[in-house]
This record gives sequence, C-alpha cells and structure tokens, in this order.
Amino acid sequence: MKIPFVSFIPIEKELDKDLREAFERVYTRSWYIEGVEDEAFEKAFAGYCGVDYCVGVGNGLDALMLALKALGIGEGDEVIVPSNTYIATALAVTYVGATPVFVDPDVNTFNINPTKIEEVITTNTKAIMPVHLYGQPCDMDPIAEIANNHNLYIIEDCAQAHGAKYKGQLIGTFGNAAGFSFYPGKNLGALGDAGATITNDKDIAEKIRALGNYGSDYKYHHIYKGNNSRLDEMQASFLLAKLPHLNRMNEERRRIAKKYLEGIKNSNVILPFVPEYAEPVWHIFGIRCDRRDELEKYLNDAGVGTNKHYPIPMHLQECYKDLGYKEGDFPIAEEISKTELSLPMYYGMTDEEIDYVIDVINSWR
Ligand SMILES: *Cc1c(COP(=O)(O)O)cnc(C)c1O
Repeated sequence: MKIPFVSFIPIEKELDKDLREAFERVYTRSWYIEGVEDEAFEKAFAGYCGVDYCVGVGNGLDALMLALKALGIGEGDEVIVPSNTYIATALAVTYVGATPVFVDPDVNTFNINPTKIEEVITTNTKAIMPVHLYGQPCDMDPIAEIANNHNLYIIEDCAQAHGAKYKGQLIGTFGNAAGFSFYPGKNLGALGDAGATITNDKDIAEKIRALGNYGSDYKYHHIYKGNNSRLDEMQASFLLAKLPHLNRMNEERRRIAKKYLEGIKNSNVILPFVPEYAEPVWHIFGIRCDRRDELEKYLNDAGVGTNKHYPIPMHLQECYKDLGYKEGDFPIAEEISKTELSLPMYYGMTDEEIDYVIDVINSWR
C-alpha cells in the first residue's frame, strides 16, 4: 500500500463540479483582483469565525505581518513568538522591523508555554503571537491574562487551526487580530497562495486593507508605504466553494486522529496529548519518538509518507544567527525538533489506509 503524507485528491474529486463552476464564474466575469468573490468570501469567513471583519490577503505570512503593521508594531519593538513554529511567524515580526523573542513550548502540547512568557517581557515588548500549532489551540486564558497585565497585543497565528476551539470558543477570537493561511495543505486550502486577517476592530481592518493594497485608501492616493497583498478573485471563489465543507473536513480529521490515538500501541512512541480545554482540528498528527529517523525510514519503506514539523527550531535557523541564540537555549523546542514525526493526515483517508499506518507503527521494534 502507498499512503501519501497529504493528498488533496479526495476533496477535489468530491467538489470537482463546484471548483470548476467557481473557475468558470470568475473567468467569464473576467475580473481578477478586488471583486465580488473576495467580498463574498471575506463575509463568509468572518461569519464562520464569528468576528466583524475579515480582510483577504495574499498569504498567511502577510496576514500576520500586516496585522502587526496595522497595530503600529515596528522598529525597536519586541514580539513574543514560540520557538517551535513555522518560520513565517517569526518572519512576520522581522518584516515589520521588530525583533522576535522566542519562548519554549510545552513538551506535551507542543504550544507556547504560558509560564515562560513573563520572564522575557521587557519595556520594548508590544505583543504576543500564540501559534495554534498542528491545529491544537494554545492555552489562551493565561496568555490573555499576561497580555492584559502587561498591556500587550495578542495576534494569533491560526494558519494551522481553522475551526479549532479553546474552551468552546473559536480560535482567532482571543486577541486584537488573527492571521490565517489558505496554503493548499492547510485545513482550509485554496488552489494556490491565499490568506486572511480577522479582527473585531474596524480601524485595524481598514488599515490592513489599505496596507495590503499599496497603502492606498482610494485609487492612486497612498496614505501608507504599503504592500501588494490581496486575495485574488480566483482563490476567493475556490475558498467560497470549500468553506461550507470545513467543519465536515475537520470532523474527518478528528475521526482519523481518534483511530490513531486508539490504535497505535508501541512503547517507543509518544502520542499527542489533548488537554481538557482543547477541541483540536488536527492539521498535523505529530507523534514523538527517540529513534525518530529510524521509525521514519521504516514507515517510508512500507509506503507511508511522513514529515517533520519542524526539524530546526527558530533560534537555530541560519537566518536568525544575528539574534545570538545558541544550542541549548530552548531545550523543549530542540527536543521536539529531534523527536517529532508527522503521520499522514488528510480528508479522505480510508479506514484501510489508517489501519495500515497503525499496523506498520505497531510492528516496529
Ligand atoms: C503556513 C503557516 C504560515 C504561513 O502561511 P503562508 O500562507 O504559507 O504564508 C504561518 N504560520 C504557520 C504556523 C503556518 O503553518
């Protein structure tokens, strides 16, 4: 049997007619940037998240970067981000001219450890960016309390967690703004690059829209030195076709995760932990294993696709050498980088495929 790490084929087969219709609609209209599809998707996604505003942008990195910019964060400011995340979280901070300050995650949840945030807060700290990594919500109550006590903004990185809930509340609604990515592999994926920022603050929403459109409030009038980052009509139309299926697709991921959690029985493997407060959406199903690379080879040889999220933590990335961190500074992130292995997880996996992955892991010694 051959099981890819991820596949879009099952959902694309299912929504084939809708996606082709979306393409036809846009192509026939012959209008590609800033139009009715973008507007309709923004309205629909704001509705899904239960917020007042959604601004479509070019990708998830820009969704975060423009949110930081709109909040006035820049040169000389510090922003707290987890040391175990995708590089985009840290780069968003760098691109506005601010400095990312890393905090080690909790080894059980893989997410930023709230008890380690306060020790890195300085007079320059402006914001905390919790990342709901692998689709697992961060422990938002203590994070919100720290932000409140120290007068810090919260910008949630929701790129991996569309539809996840913390104590029954959708992620993306806990801070001043939240960034989503619709990269094809995300839980809600476009057929190309796309992203969005959501917020309940009208001023921030308007500023993000202007910033992503060359800093322009009306045509050829520029109030900011902006970027070009807009959600194009084609991608918006595909997202509109897929959004009504997001909850169902997430449910399917939960079913796969449940089968993995119940079926995998191998003392060399540590399964993901789901805290009481969390309703995860399993963007990634990450196990831990001391002999990770051996297990990976065993799975790959048996036809099972895998991935590592992420093999190099932020503080040891070459591009961040200038920040002066060294090996040992974030032991938990380093431990995760050496032991985490991601199993196949996508809408449309069959029972037979899930059981096969389980059997291969259980047969490994
Ligand atoms: C994917 C991702 C991003 C960036 O999204 P892009 O659309 O690829 O720019 C940001 N943060 C996290 C945690 C991600 O996984």
